[in-house]
Amino acid sequence: LSDRLSGVFDRLTKQGALSADDVKTALREVRIALLEADVSLSVARDFINAVQEKASGQSVTKSVTPGQQVVKIVHDELVHVLQGDGDPGALKIDNPPAPILMVGLQGSGKTTTTAKLAKRLKERDGKKVLMASLDVNRPAAMEQLQILGAQIGVDTLPIVKGEDPVKIAKRAKTAAAMGGYDVYILDTAGRLHIDAELIAQAAAVRDVAQPRETLLVVDGLTGQDAVNVATEFDDKIGVTGVVLTRMDGDGRGGAALSMRAVTGKPIRFVGLGEKMDAIEEFHAERVAGRILGMGDIVSLVEKAQQTIEADQAERMMKRLQKGRFNMNDMRMQLDQMMKMGGMEGMMGMMPGMKKAAKQIEDSGMDDSVLKRQIALINSMTKKERANPQLLQASRKKRIAAGSGLEVRELNQLIKMHRQMADMMKKMGKGGMLKQAMKGMF
Ligand code: GDP
Ligand code: MG
Repeated sequence: LSDRLSGVFDRLTKQGALSADDVKTALREVRIALLEADVSLSVARDFINAVQEKASGQSVTKSVTPGQQVVKIVHDELVHVLQGDGDPGALKIDNPPAPILMVGLQGSGKTTTTAKLAKRLKERDGKKVLMASLDVNRPAAMEQLQILGAQIGVDTLPIVKGEDPVKIAKRAKTAAAMGGYDVYILDTAGRLHIDAELIAQAAAVRDVAQPRETLLVVDGLTGQDAVNVATEFDDKIGVTGVVLTRMDGDGRGGAALSMRAVTGKPIRFVGLGEKMDAIEEFHAERVAGRILGMGDIVSLVEKAQQTIEADQAERMMKRLQKGRFNMNDMRMQLDQMMKMGGMEGMMGMMPGMKKAAKQIEDSGMDDSVLKRQIALINSMTKKERANPQLLQASRKKRIAAGSGLEVRELNQLIKMHRQMADMMKKMGKGGMLKQAMKGMF
């Protein structure tokens, strides 16, 4: 995606507001990126529509291109969609022994995830965990879980040949209760494809175990298919969350977005390798960055938004140090004040300005005054802004009329400007200015 989009970015270098065309062009590429990341067609379409609405008319930050800005909006929206309610890592395991049911297709990573979660519960939460394999289909499946259990120091239900999954589930329940376990995890059998028998078996186990959590384990590399699987499992079994495995591979994780959008189920954990520690709770930010494949651009946009203000401040400081402070500077100051919580907030931050802040407060000056002052400056000509000493009676009348305000208010502004300019000059000489500006921006 990075390569593809950079081409678009090169073409989109205009500044100003995001035009409908900018958005369209960038979103066309984003749509392709989503499809390449295995996001399903309908999900990609809905998503793009939502972003389109948000992006149109937004103003473009200087030093990033509209295309980049669209990607930032896309990224934020991705995070928004991916994020479920609540803490993804918090499993419902009160009322011991709490059953957790693991379901999913064969090879999706159920057995591995069962052991990873058991280890996590044991080590992070100090829980006593029992694991039981209900996989009667694959010859070595039960032994696989037993070996993992030994490796991580978690008990497994003793293997009894010839039992069906429901019977094993019942035995696990009893053993967990008798043995004083906090949690027992049921690792079910999977199949290569979803079918009636698989679902019936899982449903029967569910009815016996009454799981507190039913986690659907899905291979993060499978893409669109994963959504059908998730929908089916959720309809028939009812899942409380999804675990995406193989997120260490080079798949893009588009399944995560499709799954969230289609099933509405929260993604709880991601598997990041074959090792027993390779699991973490789901972070929407990380997966969003991965789907777009361009975390760098997102941070670039964020940084640009910050540096613009720093940029302006730097330029203004140079001018101030030279003893220049015209109405343009004043205007910038006023804008900045509005942003920084008004007069008081800003003045309070500047050494030597505390007294002025008090005066302003006493005179009842508030943010509406700031707005009026900005309006007055806007009514000045370019020349007047650069040379405030030009402001004599006839000009004052024109400016006041132009902004719909009174000459009295303009006089106040001019007085304030003069005071500030004096102060800046003094501070500039003493090196205080640099200090003050640092605190301001
Ligand atoms: P099950 O059939 O659903 O029980 O799947 P398994 O747990 O047996 O896993 C199948 C294979 O996938 C095993 O070789 C696991 O080591 C591997 N696997 C599981 N989770 C992950 C993961 O997050 N990343 C990687 N790279 N491999 C995984
Ligand atoms: Mg298995």
